[in-house]
Amino acid sequence: HVRTRFAPSPTGFLHLGGARTALFSWAFARHYGGTFILRIEDTDLERSTPEAVQAILDGMAWLGLTPDEGPFYQMQHMDRYRAVLGSMLAAGTAYPCYSSPEEVESMREAAKARGAKPRYDGTWRPEIGKTLPAIPADRKPVIRFKNPQEGATAWLDLVKGPISIDNGELDDLIIARPDGTPTYNFCVVVDDWDMRISHVLRGDDHVNNTPRQINILRALGAPVPQYGHVPMILGPDGEKLSKRHGAVSVMDYHREGYLPEGMINYLARLGWSHGNDEIFSREQLVEWFDPQHLSKSAAQWDPKKLNWVNAHYIKQSDNESLAHSISERIKARGGDPEAINLVEVVQLLKDRAETLEQLADAAMLFCGPFKSAEPDLIAQHLTASARAALKDFAQQAAKIDWTKDAIAALIKTVLATHELKMPQLAIPLRVAVAGTTQTPAIDAVLTLLGREVVLSRLNGS
Ligand code: GLU
Repeated sequence: HVRTRFAPSPTGFLHLGGARTALFSWAFARHYGGTFILRIEDTDLERSTPEAVQAILDGMAWLGLTPDEGPFYQMQHMDRYRAVLGSMLAAGTAYPCYSSPEEVESMREAAKARGAKPRYDGTWRPEIGKTLPAIPADRKPVIRFKNPQEGATAWLDLVKGPISIDNGELDDLIIARPDGTPTYNFCVVVDDWDMRISHVLRGDDHVNNTPRQINILRALGAPVPQYGHVPMILGPDGEKLSKRHGAVSVMDYHREGYLPEGMINYLARLGWSHGNDEIFSREQLVEWFDPQHLSKSAAQWDPKKLNWVNAHYIKQSDNESLAHSISERIKARGGDPEAINLVEVVQLLKDRAETLEQLADAAMLFCGPFKSAEPDLIAQHLTASARAALKDFAQQAAKIDWTKDAIAALIKTVLATHELKMPQLAIPLRVAVAGTTQTPAIDAVLTLLGREVVLSRLNGS
């Protein structure tokens, strides 16, 4: 049975890299009909905050990455970690080490001076026939894992392929601090074991932890999950993705008006592919997802492509739900979403919007207070001949049926009477009723604005 987990440390918002790891773990579990678990790694008390926990839960809920089990909190498993520590001490797979931090530091310096890797020298590591030093008074020990010194630790990484690390490279990891609290790698191991995790997909910044974790699992007699390490996400400039590149918090994308479907689709393509498919639904992703097609090289964040993907999802969303999603955004802009048939407005505008923010901006033409055009725009476009045509248009507009077809026909009549080309009437109309030269098709705009508004703006211009 496939069991995967997303195990964020709640030290900030849910960032794009984390969201993508969560997505891969989720899709993998769903693909195999398995179980996706959320585990909050909150043992770093100085850096973990309740706000960050909430931000992770919010981000995952927004993206629809619902865990089947959890959220679990490592701080609630302390008794279990202590019990496992105790059993390892009893079994001799872990040992107390009384070297002070200063002593360990000088061991590291000494190793460096010999041209070797800086490391703890194993002073307190028990061996058959070895006499350990006398225990210093008043010193609380750390607990170290007795890492095997012979052979190598190897695994077939689901993303990177075969990896093998000589055990001689690994020193005896501290698994509990002098106050008895377990350390990061140890908690991960105990939880992965207890939660019967079968596949660990995580960022490749953890690749160095993996051989240590495997060795501890083996010492515990626990099954070793399969690991896959996903390369990081780079910014458009090739540097590690960071705040310099703009928003990196998933919820910022929510605020900026991206749809969860667009985000999921784009994040999935960032480091995973299915042939040449760029647009696919959540269901298709689940059906197709396999770790073989996770990329070995770093993915590059591409805001233009994200916008392109998001525009697709906006286009195919139904008008009612888009209208609903932008109405708060319109209010925040000082507009009145009730002022007009917002569903029709959305229908007119959605093909050009890449985000809900852009859609709300465009909708302000219909929902916002009217801002008349700048004087130079008026001088340029509302010439005497244009004004004559507008006046004629306004007089006849008072009498027609207010439908798009009738308005289009009236525009044609006025063009013919005044011997104008389309832009010579359409642009002055836009300037007069919208205060700008940029709007969607003018007949559609006039239809939606309504006769009363159009006439009052024409007469006032
Ligand atoms: N808590 C770790 C992190 O947020 C992830 C640990 C793991 O996936 O094993 O980077």
